Amino acid sequence: MINVTKPFLAPQAEYEAYLSAIWQRGWLTNNGPLVNELEAELKNYLQLPHLHFLSNGTIALQIAIKALDLQGEILTTPFSYVATTSSIVWENCRAVFVDIDPETLNIDPNLLEQHIGPNTSAILATHVYGNPCDIDAIQKIADKHNLKVIYDAAHCFGSEYKGQSVFAFGDVSTCSFHATKLFHTIEGGAVMSPSEEIAQRLGYMRNFGHDGPESFAEVGINGKNSEFHAAMGLVNLKHIARIRQSRLDQKAYYDKALKGLPLSQPKILAQAQPNYSYYPIIFESEEALLKTVKALNSHWIYPRRYFYPALNSLNYVDQQSCPLAEDISKRVLCLPMYVELSEAEMKLITNVIRNALK
Ligand SMILES: *Cc1c(COP(=O)(O)O)cnc(C)c1O
Repeated sequence: MINVTKPFLAPQAEYEAYLSAIWQRGWLTNNGPLVNELEAELKNYLQLPHLHFLSNGTIALQIAIKALDLQGEILTTPFSYVATTSSIVWENCRAVFVDIDPETLNIDPNLLEQHIGPNTSAILATHVYGNPCDIDAIQKIADKHNLKVIYDAAHCFGSEYKGQSVFAFGDVSTCSFHATKLFHTIEGGAVMSPSEEIAQRLGYMRNFGHDGPESFAEVGINGKNSEFHAAMGLVNLKHIARIRQSRLDQKAYYDKALKGLPLSQPKILAQAQPNYSYYPIIFESEEALLKTVKALNSHWIYPRRYFYPALNSLNYVDQQSCPLAEDISKRVLCLPMYVELSEAEMKLITNVIRNALK
């Protein structure tokens, strides 16, 4: 069976070495040495001033919304994983959907202004598939209307914009370190902000608001992560060059093997360097997609319809029309991509697709 992804696992002994040290210290969670080491290594690797390691990428979004004091309406993309929208609703804000650019599949900056009203407080955009948004265009509109910007950068470990980590942009960026993501800590995530002040709030909020053992700066929640999860991150970070290179190699293979077929792919902006953590293909019709999925499934290959359905159709939002996202979400499929995926398996996958589209 070939799934769309498979969690990366380093040699078991590398993790076990960390376990022995955890047992010796008896320090399992609460800002332990491995959590601190992971945060320091991530800040160094990504060249970021501030980063907080959290229990997952969804709590990262919720804490980001809280730390920026967002209320009222948040402009967001209909083409993302459900956590982008559910976090807005969970924090008692209203999700206002802005349709996507049909080429990049990211929120269309040209459509933002027509949705801005007196209650708009922020823009929450996703860099879909690790492919950076038009950050300059989004920031320009945010500055003009005094809006905050959060990027759901869950897919973006290693992605760059103008030569810097894409996590360096916006008021806050969030990432997911879930087992299925390019870099993972089993469950986990992070919040990043260029602002010292916001970063400090994010830090208090992830730890019940504590600013001392017996004092509280403000309301907080438990968004902490453990020494065991940090250990997995430290192990995986040692393999990150190989993990990232394998994505580039697999992308090159797929590009070549699928050449000439009636498929398209998201456009990448000139100033953006994606991590190619996913391999999305856009079919000419939903019918062609369904036919291909059926053929792949019959060979025990399970790609995923990331992202379907469009989020503006969720039953707990005010449904607003986003024709481009609705159309694309019916026609896009992500092919398997993970370190252990072999060339023979990619050959099988691409041959099945080629036959299905004949
Ligand atoms: C994975 C993902 C999340 C959620 O991250 P978790 O760590 O699973 O909570 C949020 N947004 C997007 C776009 C994602 O792909």
